[in-house]
Amino acid sequence: MPTNLAEARERLARANRLIANEGVLDAFGHVSMRHPTDPTRYLLSRSRGPELVQADDILEFDLDSQPVKPPTARLYSERVIHGEIYKARPDVNAICHHHALSILPFCISGMELKPVDHLGATMGETVPFWDSRDEFGETNLLVTKPAEGASLARALGSHWTVLMRRHGATVAGRTLEEVAFRAIYTVRNAALQIQAHLLGMVAPLTKEETRLAGDHNLAPGPVMRAWEYWNARLDKAEGRAPRARRNEARPRSRASSAGRKIRGGRKK
Ligand code: MN
Repeated sequence: MPTNLAEARERLARANRLIANEGVLDAFGHVSMRHPTDPTRYLLSRSRGPELVQADDILEFDLDSQPVKPPTARLYSERVIHGEIYKARPDVNAICHHHALSILPFCISGMELKPVDHLGATMGETVPFWDSRDEFGETNLLVTKPAEGASLARALGSHWTVLMRRHGATVAGRTLEEVAFRAIYTVRNAALQIQAHLLGMVAPLTKEETRLAGDHNLAPGPVMRAWEYWNARLDKAEGRAPRARRNEARPRSRASSAGRKIRGGRKK
């Protein structure tokens, strides 16, 4: 994870756009990370579609989800999702809340979301289902009150993904890269689970398979390979040449940044 604030804001903005570029987020949903040096704060964009989020949009919040500085922009109404999970889970450093299309049939039907392929194993063996009616009765289904966020965090418990009735999912990770991996491959697993059911009843991975495959996928090698790939796709979508390989090939020096300038067209 980044160790300074400027780098963290840049990386978090990128994670928002990257996960959106993979179809998990649309106009709604959001990605946050714990503050790189102050674990009692977290970083989250002002209210806008994640695909549009830039480093300048990233604001600081305390764990009660109050902005650290008086806000000059509209804030996400569901930020308590993030604050209450960071409060409950010191091991969680990044969170993605989304309403991805292939997750929603599970949120609507109550059918259990299960790992059915090796990459989907990163969701964990159990994906709890949170029904806001259990504690709060009929609501507009958004998670806007601290008590609602705390209830969702309790439902998540020690797991990594929680489904929210008629709403979407919230995914936690130890790092931004891990949360991107888990969110993207859980959504893909959901689509696969539905498609495979059309062919017949599908048994999920066994508990041991889920553990073995999940641990393998979440090692730095696979997570960073996927992160580089999704970054390259994002660069392409945003009209830039892929930068991950270029940085690897060229040492960071004045000469290489001059080289980039000559090739030109790279805007912040
Ligand atoms: Mn939502």
